Amino acid sequence: MGTMTTPYAERPAPSHRTGAVGEGGEPSAYGAVDPTDLVTRAVDLARETQRWWANIGFAGRRHLLDRWRQELTDGMEDLAAVVREETGKPHGDAMLEIGLAIEHLAWAARKAPKVLGRRRVGSTLLAAHLAATVEYLPQGVIGVIGPWNYPVFTPMGSIGYALAGGNTVVFKPSELTPRTGQWLADSFERAVGSPCLQVVQGEAQVGEALCRAGVDKLGFTGSSATAKKVMATCAETLTPVLIEGGGKDALIVDEDADVEAAAQAAVWGGLSNAGQTCIGVERVLAHTAVYDEVVAAIVRQASAVRAGLDDSADLGPITLPKQVRIIHDQVAEAVADGARAVVGAPASTDGVGPDSALTDPARLLQPVVLVDIPEGARIQTEETFGPVITVERVADMDAAVAAANAVDYGLGGAVFSRRNGPEIARRVRSGMTSVNNVIGFAGLPELPFGGVGGSGFGRIHGADGLREFCYAKSVARQRFTPPVSMTNFQRRARVDGIFASAVTLLHGTRPWQR
Ligand code: NAD
Repeated sequence: MGTMTTPYAERPAPSHRTGAVGEGGEPSAYGAVDPTDLVTRAVDLARETQRWWANIGFAGRRHLLDRWRQELTDGMEDLAAVVREETGKPHGDAMLEIGLAIEHLAWAARKAPKVLGRRRVGSTLLAAHLAATVEYLPQGVIGVIGPWNYPVFTPMGSIGYALAGGNTVVFKPSELTPRTGQWLADSFERAVGSPCLQVVQGEAQVGEALCRAGVDKLGFTGSSATAKKVMATCAETLTPVLIEGGGKDALIVDEDADVEAAAQAAVWGGLSNAGQTCIGVERVLAHTAVYDEVVAAIVRQASAVRAGLDDSADLGPITLPKQVRIIHDQVAEAVADGARAVVGAPASTDGVGPDSALTDPARLLQPVVLVDIPEGARIQTEETFGPVITVERVADMDAAVAAANAVDYGLGGAVFSRRNGPEIARRVRSGMTSVNNVIGFAGLPELPFGGVGGSGFGRIHGADGLREFCYAKSVARQRFTPPVSMTNFQRRARVDGIFASAVTLLHGTRPWQR
């Protein structure tokens, strides 16, 4: 690795659309067949291509990934239009996620040699005869299963980092965003001319087939409920998994916080993308000394936010039809048990059918802000994934941290405090926390991204994200024959004695410590 053969030589043939299946396995517009065949073909092609991709080294890959980055950047408006059509999100929100994905791709391609490349590591007194190196080699073919809510930013956190590490990728986008996934693969093919990034289209059965297809690792992003099924399927073939699951993130406001800034963060963090953000703010935990002020500021700011289908609307529709019912039910249940809606109203609903169009007015949910949340309400513990913010009063920051940590999820979060932000942030059991800011960590490529507990494990982004799709390769090379060698059957008691004395000398209790 490291030496660059020309990226243009021996380049595998461009990919062919591997196709898609609809529910029940019937042929779809892509004209494909059985999901297992479809996925197997894609994985085989990705495996053939991987040798070439690994061999062109870091410099060759950087060159080609930079071309892809330019292709993505030049086509940003076009891709954003596809994302808007498929998810309903405002154009500006689509541009934001694409722009951040591009930033990450640039970073991964640039930093891969430093993070993954071979380097010498130190020896010890007992192993002074050995010189050691470590490097991170590509796993091979990575399967990526993505969600619909950030159909570019989220899967690209796996795809870009896996490719930069020398892997090839078979990507199954959400069935709600197939054209976005195809756009990504097509743009890769235009830039690179090689099937290092394959797309397979379809629903759960195609995802299951990808888990069983013998990929070397599977990166899953989606709900924690689906994550359990994905893990179970991957367990059949001992395929390692990365899980980016759901969240129930809290924004904590301390008594010394800038209340206006905290409220603005809560409103944008909670309502943008119609609340369909894994790292969105779902709960606000405000110190009792500033609680009334925080509620008043959130009410004022949230009341100005509007869901609609027009270009000036702040929020688009709820993308997943069945989520409409879940959001309404969580709000209605909380209100029935004593919560108060200080913005919006708990509308009872039968939900919308699975075929309801994105333009169905029933899928436009206006913001709701709830206070006086009953202890143990579902809206306090389960992911709501809608434009709903709850505000709770806490006695102090110990109580805030305890409340933030009292859920199964542990994805992100935010803390607003002038004096103690970083200290409070460390005590929140989650993968990422912003201080006096919201969601900022997602746009910093140096920072690993991922959760703990019910939110999953493993990391995308940053050095950890590059290593996630590689394996450590350790090499110990003998530099000279040691005077005392332990690794042979000829050694005698004298040698064992020397070894024991050396260990005692190095690590045992000193005579003066006895
Ligand atoms: P989902 O779990 O319904 O689906 C995710 C993907 O899994 C889809 O591509 C789907 O087709 C596939 N799938 C479904 N069943 C499967 C099975 N049995 N085997 C294999 N694949 C299967 O999630 P969603 O509704 O698309 O996305 C929303 C969820 O994703 C939310 O919970 C959100 O918090 C989470 N999310 C997490 C992150 C993160 O980085 N942690 C980012 C974005 C979204």
